[in-house]
Amino acid sequence: MEASKADIFDRESTFSFEVFPPKKDDDFASAFSTLDALGELRPDYISVTYGAGGSRAGKTVEIASYIQNHLQIPAIAHVTCVGSRREQILSLCRDLEKEHVTHIMALRGDRPKDMTDEEFAAREFEHASDLISFLKAQAPSFSFAAACYPEKHFEAFSMETDLKNLLKKQEAGAKHLISQLFFDNDYFYAFCEKARAKGITLPISAGIMPITSPKQIGTTVTLSGSSIPKAFADLIARYGDNAEEMRKAGIDYAIRQIRDLQENGVKHIHIYSMNKPKTTREIVEGVK
Ligand code: FAD
Repeated sequence: MEASKADIFDRESTFSFEVFPPKKDDDFASAFSTLDALGELRPDYISVTYGAGGSRAGKTVEIASYIQNHLQIPAIAHVTCVGSRREQILSLCRDLEKEHVTHIMALRGDRPKDMTDEEFAAREFEHASDLISFLKAQAPSFSFAAACYPEKHFEAFSMETDLKNLLKKQEAGAKHLISQLFFDNDYFYAFCEKARAKGITLPISAGIMPITSPKQIGTTVTLSGSSIPKAFADLIARYGDNAEEMRKAGIDYAIRQIRDLQENGVKHIHIYSMNKPKTTREIVEGVK
């Protein structure tokens, strides 16, 4: 298969969404209607997450295929490599190619809880950059994005080391970076400045997660390691007990974040949609 001629990673500006595959097979019908509703917003692309350790990889392919072929919107399939062997990754790429999905978000992934120290030490891919180098050689028809962390990856000793490692993803052949979620734009601006100073020239999508219930703070946000600025903490304190008011305030916060990013010249916005088309629509319309 030829490399995609109109590569979405070459676009000057993008507005994109992330979705996750349904947790149970029974939920596929509702997942497709969620995707239909997100598709109406015509994002530049939709990325599909991958279960930690490669569990349910086929579901990522199925959802990515629906986006690419049914909705006719470019799909990015996330692929994590920490628990995978080279042959498994190649087989997954063949499945994606069959579905005309040619964009991959290449990730190492978190170490699965049931992975022993021996298994972890013997893993075939150490880092996302190793996955990108391997696939550039073995599956050249794909284009790759990679993850970056405005507040530093939790394992990295310092931002300096994390950026050196990020440069390796660029050198390995990544074409685009998508950031971890953040709530304080100043972290993102400072990160971009440091990344540029280190020679990272790739476009960087700003990852925005609308928080519509305080429960999300205890789960997704804690896992991401992103800090909560005072303005946002105040908002949760004020509206946290009122579901509808909290939802509105969370959407409003995301809209203000995106507007500020755009006013400051950020050209790539990636919304962690959490499979919520109504919330995503309100943000898209609010930003317009
Ligand atoms: P790496 O790039 O390997 O980085 C991990 C650590 O190793 C960092 O501290 C880094 O500084 C260091 N490092 C990197 N390269 C090197 C190198 N060459 N030599 C030495 N050290 C190095 N997880 C999922 O399970 N499924 C998903 O679908 C998913 N999607 C995500 C999407 C985005 C936008 C983001 C930001 C994260 C996503 N994650 C997902 C989470 C991700 O898997 C974890 O953050 C994971 O801990 C790191 O993955 P990585 O690809 O950044 O790893």
